[in-house]
Amino acid sequence: MLLHLSTWAEIEARLAADRSIVIPIGSNEQHGPTGLLGTDWLCPEIIAHEAQKTHDILVGPTFNIGMAQHHLGFPGSISLRPSTFIAAIGDWARSLAVQGFQRIYFLNGHGGNIASIEAAFSEIYAEASFAGRARGYALRLRNWWELPGVQALCARLYPQGHGSHATPSEIAVTQWAYPGEVRTASYAPQIAPSGPVREAADFRARYPDGRMGSDPAQASPAAGGEIVALAARVLADDLAAGW
Ligand SMILES: [Zn+2]
Repeated sequence: MLLHLSTWAEIEARLAADRSIVIPIGSNEQHGPTGLLGTDWLCPEIIAHEAQKTHDILVGPTFNIGMAQHHLGFPGSISLRPSTFIAAIGDWARSLAVQGFQRIYFLNGHGGNIASIEAAFSEIYAEASFAGRARGYALRLRNWWELPGVQALCARLYPQGHGSHATPSEIAVTQWAYPGEVRTASYAPQIAPSGPVREAADFRARYPDGRMGSDPAQASPAAGGEIVALAARVLADDLAAGW
């Protein structure tokens, strides 16, 4: 069930039976010469939307702008600063919580978001702690590549050149979902360098084509389909457990 294609009355009825929701969250940022700018929000959205076709889960609108300040040297990248992002995540969660949602599960697609999402959760928990009350609802962060079994599958598909940005696995997921948007390029070097992440000018100087440690030429729509099928299958179980 997709929240944005539902009515308020349908959501009110659902809340009487189930109080959990999945929010895909990512970032709109460069993904090397062939990766789509939306890759990091498309991947969790693709997986969550696929999962709701066969499982009884509610998926909210995708939070598609994240903490990507280090990518701002590449056109098309859009970022919130950490403080803005933390405040926005908090208000998304509070909006849902006041209506009765008790389990808010963020399915994340961008490593650079993790610190801010965790900080947003801590802000919400701190409000309850300083007021001396129970928090009333639970928040969870799950990176899609850490859904049970997914990392092992990606390691098997890409034993070399997976890297950490513009990875063949994430690009494969978008290729599967958007087969008309597949790009190719010749990469030099074939596997991009790895290193630290700092400000945007430093990032572009270190990683001139935008990749980090990856060889996206290995991506294929078929492999993307395999990753999506597994991730979508385990998402519902992961949502139900571990609160
Ligand atoms: Zn990415």
